[in-house]
Amino acid sequence: MEKYEKNCEKRLWSETADIPDFNQLHGDAKTDVLIIGGGAAGLLCGYYLKKRNADYMILEGRRILSGTTGLTTAKITAQHGLIYSKMIKNAGYEKAKLYFDANRRAVEDYREISKIYPCDFEERDSFVYLTEGEYKGTNSNETLKREAEAVRRLGFPASVEVNLPLPFKTAGAVKFPMQAQFNPAKLFSKMAKDLNIYENTFVREIQTDRVITDSGTVKAKKIIVATHFPILNKQGAYYMKMYQSRSYVIALENAQNVEGMYVDGRENGLSFRNYENMLLLGGGGHRTGKKGGNWEELRRFASKYYPESNEKYHWAAQDCMSLDKIPYIGPYSGSAENLYTATGFNKWGMTSSMTAAKILSDMVMGTGNRYAEAFSPSRNMIKPQLFVNLGESVVNLVGFSKKRCTHMGCRLKWNKAEHTWDCPCHGSRFTKDGRVLDNPANLNLI
Ligand SMILES: Cc1cc2nc3c(=O)[nH]c(=O)nc-3n(C[C@H](O)[C@H](O)[C@H](O)COP(=O)(O)OP(=O)(O)OC[C@H]3O[C@@H](n4cnc5c(N)ncnc54)[C@H](O)[C@@H]3O)c2cc1C
Repeated sequence: MEKYEKNCEKRLWSETADIPDFNQLHGDAKTDVLIIGGGAAGLLCGYYLKKRNADYMILEGRRILSGTTGLTTAKITAQHGLIYSKMIKNAGYEKAKLYFDANRRAVEDYREISKIYPCDFEERDSFVYLTEGEYKGTNSNETLKREAEAVRRLGFPASVEVNLPLPFKTAGAVKFPMQAQFNPAKLFSKMAKDLNIYENTFVREIQTDRVITDSGTVKAKKIIVATHFPILNKQGAYYMKMYQSRSYVIALENAQNVEGMYVDGRENGLSFRNYENMLLLGGGGHRTGKKGGNWEELRRFASKYYPESNEKYHWAAQDCMSLDKIPYIGPYSGSAENLYTATGFNKWGMTSSMTAAKILSDMVMGTGNRYAEAFSPSRNMIKPQLFVNLGESVVNLVGFSKKRCTHMGCRLKWNKAEHTWDCPCHGSRFTKDGRVLDNPANLNLI
């Protein structure tokens, strides 16, 4: 185990790209469309608005790509787990088709954009595998067949493959041909150089037609909140309809070339893709603020199956999970005018950010978008996950702790693996000495 913990550096992507610096905003400014957040969602919104000659500005609180986008595993696929059979059943064929088509188009958009901004874009097949036995009460083989059949009904040639190059036995996988993987830091840092961005400009408050930052204000006709977890509590009830889930990644040299992208159909299972001579092994996930396998689980797996490998990087990150596995993209709330958001990407934020940028740029420019309806943040919230989220909030709001979150006052849990204070309610995180690391909290612990 020891050899896996030595010589590890944190960020793979940022070491491989020349990420530009941008000035801080000073004083008061004005724009037609203000985008808050310089991750994949915010930058892609900027990219499509620029293409339309819109007057826009991006405000990033820290540095661009300092959020989850800088720590993703960057698989670009419309295959978001084993969701389509269930989505057709629960949301109906039409909605599932819109969701699928939007994401499939997003893969093609990346293919085109990567010609403008070279970013190690590589076409790869994508696979969601299951281990043998049962999956949610049904035989794994049956589940895979049913999912592939559902995707074929949506018009895409999915198939079930049984001989996988993974180092353990599986029941097979659903295969989506011609998906892709890339280096997000290369793409977004090149793209950012063409965009109107201010960094180190943290938005403290959003008012009807302006935002307040520590170093100035910006008056805007439309505002897009692309801050990962939306920062405004008063509208949209995102604190009820989302939680955050943390996952861990190790990059191994001398492991295996899996020649594709593999994800376990079970929540918090393992994922595999290669980058250059490394295997990126993901997993160990858990709701933020709860216990999980973390890097230990990945290192155990690596020493069992890749005993000759050595760990080059390790990192962890988290994403926002929606109630129904569909992101929230569109007007911030039913009553919000001129305020929009893109969030709840369920660890599939590459295609979701692209979809969000297309939908939101159309919305703020006043043109329709045929996919918008499927992603509306104001859709029905009555889902089993809502009650799990509410239960978690109640327990952690009343429970005793020395440390409480500055977002809504939930008790914080000590994260032994990362030495941070984490909030099980909404996923805010703080350093040992109280500095805020992850939102929705935006104030340090006192
Ligand atoms: C381990 C892991 C692996 C993943 N792998 C994949 C994958 O293979 N494929 C895939 O499709 N998806 C994947 N995802 C999901 C994907 O990475 C995310 O959904 C996506 O990066 C989120 O992008 P974003 O722009 O919404 O958020 P972020 O990248 O977090 O950007 C938000 C930005 O907003 C800024 N900000 C926050 N608050 C403020 C404020 N008040 N003022 C100004 N700026 C502010 C932050 O500093 C940050 O830069 C993965 C996620 C994880 C955790």
